[in-house]
Amino acid sequence: MSQTAVWRDSTAVTTQPPVHEPSSPYRVLYDGQCEVCQACVSWLKILDRDSKTLSLPISAETLTSTDECLQIDACLRQLHVVTPNGEILVGWDAVAALALLFPSTWLIGWLGQRFPFRNLGRAIYGYVAANRYALSKCRGGACRVAQPETVRRQARLGAFWSCYSLGFLVRLPLILWAGVSTAFQRIHLFFRTYHRRLDLLNGKLTILFLNGTLPNAVPLLFGELFTTALYDGIAVDPGSPKMRRSLAQHLQRLQPNITKVVATHAHEEHVGNLNWLANRAGVPLFVSEMTAQFLTPFKKLPWVRALIIGQPPNLQPPYQLLGHTLDTQSAHLQIIPTPGHCDDHIVLYDPAEKLLIAGDAFMGSYFATPNPDVDSQRWLVSLERLMELDIEIMVEGHGHIHTLRPDIPDVPGVVIREDPKKAVAQKLDYMRWLREQIETGFKENLPVRVIEASCFPWGNRTSWESCATDECIRLLSLGHFSRTELVRSFARNNTDALPTIYEVRISGGE
Ligand SMILES: [Zn+2]
Repeated sequence: MSQTAVWRDSTAVTTQPPVHEPSSPYRVLYDGQCEVCQACVSWLKILDRDSKTLSLPISAETLTSTDECLQIDACLRQLHVVTPNGEILVGWDAVAALALLFPSTWLIGWLGQRFPFRNLGRAIYGYVAANRYALSKCRGGACRVAQPETVRRQARLGAFWSCYSLGFLVRLPLILWAGVSTAFQRIHLFFRTYHRRLDLLNGKLTILFLNGTLPNAVPLLFGELFTTALYDGIAVDPGSPKMRRSLAQHLQRLQPNITKVVATHAHEEHVGNLNWLANRAGVPLFVSEMTAQFLTPFKKLPWVRALIIGQPPNLQPPYQLLGHTLDTQSAHLQIIPTPGHCDDHIVLYDPAEKLLIAGDAFMGSYFATPNPDVDSQRWLVSLERLMELDIEIMVEGHGHIHTLRPDIPDVPGVVIREDPKKAVAQKLDYMRWLREQIETGFKENLPVRVIEASCFPWGNRTSWESCATDECIRLLSLGHFSRTELVRSFARNNTDALPTIYEVRISGGE
């Protein structure tokens, strides 16, 4: 096919006159298996703030539903764009037409349609389009034109990594930009919540934001805030020893009526002040049986975590074990085991208020850097269990509240206006997709790093948007929290404790 535009006017196609839909978008057909094409689509989505375009990965069905004139071979060979008028633009002409749509690229589009830039553009585009084949051999994309079976047999992982790295390089400016802008958002949120308190539901629910000199590194670098929730007399997860001063200041100012202290799970940022707070308030302490086990004695933390968060003291009696319910000042909470984030995790649910104190059982719909004790298969079952509850307010353990309820005011960065059940459903969908990717990868005997890469395809916006933060977490936690752990979290063997990823690398085993 030539690289000139295919004009599709009413004289050329007499049977189907073009339909004028000024509001319909430019449909951009791209090779969804090709890293170069996917990277270009990422850039297009950044430029296209007003949704003037719709990017469609090429498949036989997409092409017939878009325009019957489109040929799959031609579309895989070079970019095809169908304008709102039904005109089909090809190659450089399609690029120029898209550039014309956005203010920052308008000049490129305008010049690109004029001599000599038009001819130059076509020549360069032709060269890139021809050589793209050489780069995208592994995933069967452009190579569907050739013999896919032969290509697949010949494609080694080197070809996969060259595509993946190319996708990374093309998006590197976007990755860095996303990293910088989220860093600014985190710093902003940190200062807005610094030593602050949030009183909600007429004082029935209070969120205390906890700070500490070294713990502050976590919200600043990774965006996870430290909190204690006070709900109807129950104090949940009172922070680590390094946040004790912050908690004491809050208590002095607020003088809350605490009747019980509870932990959702035995992670260091939640359990370091359990005995301290129970003694100070003179009230009973409640933990699950497994949490009590994990806390007596508390395992020695890796040194980075001990340094930043603080090694929690061992649990001291007296304490009581949690049953199925826990009495509050006005009613009672259901205690629901939700293993996954860690084995001992429980959540507290108030059926009267339809409120869930979720601890770390949710951690956002997209959470890509788990710790080594995450078991994602069990987490999926726990999330399915949460879907059975009627939830209007979901309070997370790290400073987010998901709700649509109007009696919870807007607090930017903290209150997320979305249906909590929808958020849980979204996370379930994402984790099921991950499970499928990972199971397929293991079945095909792919190395863990390749499976990891296939879980974060650059075509997914979240993959590159959170790339800088995720890799920063990996680096600073010395590999304890990472995208690699995400893959391993789906392949946990419940009978053996897994070695850390570094131990695996050193011993060379799997
Ligand atoms: Zn946790």
